[in-house]
Amino acid sequence: MSGLKRKPIRWGMVGGGRGSQIGYIHRSAALRDSIFELVAGAFDIDPERGRAFGVELGLDEARSYPDYLAMFAAEAKRVDGIEAVSIATPNNTHFAICKAALEHDLHVICEKPLCFTVAEAKELKALSQARNRIVGVTYGYAGHQMIEQARAMVKNGDLGEIRIVNLQFAHGFHSEAVEELNPSTRWRVDPKFAGPSYVLGDVGTHPLYISEVILPHLKIKRLMCTRQSFVKSRAPLEDNAVTLMEYDNGALATVWSSAVNAGSMHGQKVRIVGSKASVEWWDERPNQLSYEIQGEPVRILERGMDYLYPEARIDDRIGGGHPEGLFEAWANLYRRFGFAIDGQRGLAPAGMEELGFPDVHAGLEGVRWVENCVRSADAGAIWVDYE
Ligand code: NAD
Repeated sequence: MSGLKRKPIRWGMVGGGRGSQIGYIHRSAALRDSIFELVAGAFDIDPERGRAFGVELGLDEARSYPDYLAMFAAEAKRVDGIEAVSIATPNNTHFAICKAALEHDLHVICEKPLCFTVAEAKELKALSQARNRIVGVTYGYAGHQMIEQARAMVKNGDLGEIRIVNLQFAHGFHSEAVEELNPSTRWRVDPKFAGPSYVLGDVGTHPLYISEVILPHLKIKRLMCTRQSFVKSRAPLEDNAVTLMEYDNGALATVWSSAVNAGSMHGQKVRIVGSKASVEWWDERPNQLSYEIQGEPVRILERGMDYLYPEARIDDRIGGGHPEGLFEAWANLYRRFGFAIDGQRGLAPAGMEELGFPDVHAGLEGVRWVENCVRSADAGAIWVDYE
């Protein structure tokens, strides 16, 4: 980080307006390391509210736009126009906004799910490649350092042969029909806005992406999924789903995606079981990784300690023992998005642009997984070959 001679990336936002669930963490993460500078925005579906919010954030009033098309068009005409944009709007808008941004030669950081269909995701991937632009996807939990530790442990053979993967993101916040009073939940259970799934896309894709980071060598061969709407008014969208998957090496995985796990705060857990040992990570205690060797007492590995692999130390902002949290994890991801964009600008010091991050391919894989789960569930929870 230190000693970089660089100018911040001129950055805008679409969505993430006042009162939105996820807007604040985007700004906090992007601005944390002065890698991005917020200079423009179209923050809200309500143009006036969005304009006022931009001014409150300190933007030049002329650059707080009524909508994203006006922003992309006006910014393209400025010599100091935005170079990158983050999209933090409901799911149904991601594809169109992402496409328009790439067509204006902007780098994009998009909320998950990237879009609704694999065909759309492939179109965005091709467009980003043709325009030489980065697409990052905010699978924010992947910015926690202990995920890198688990990845390095698998790579170095500490767990042995991988046999079983247990994934879950199962919270209890929507155990009742809270959408009747909460607009941020209302669109999530309406297929017009949420797309073909609720919890599979909204929460299940998070641990799925983490598993892809830790186990890059495993490919899903087939899966079986069952999905339910325990709150009946949410049908056809599910508020609970269980997916069983087989990898090409014979390993097995389960994914429990739920918003009706009453009493659970977040309940996002990733457990990787090998022939020698297992690791387990829980997003409510993100600074720890449980390392369980068969026949030995459980070890709790702590973030920031010298005994970790170097990959797990790269993002440390403070010594071990001081808890880092979701805001740091997001900032770690935004730093990687920034370095990748710098790579395109010819600014990154050698090697930094090589840091991995959830990119357009990761976005596509999330959409592919949801599509396969829905195909299986809607055919009666049958095994389907992974397409
Ligand atoms: P929200 O309903 O709380 O906020 C949406 C915001 O977008 C509002 O400010 C709204 O006015 C604005 N908006 C809507 N349409 C717009 C448009 N066409 N142009 C400009 N602004 C527009 O939603 P949220 O919970 O913040 O979710 C937004 C996105 O973030 C969703 O895709 C969701 O899946 C994703 N999300 C991701 C995470 C994560 O961990 N990565 C967490 C929560 C939400």
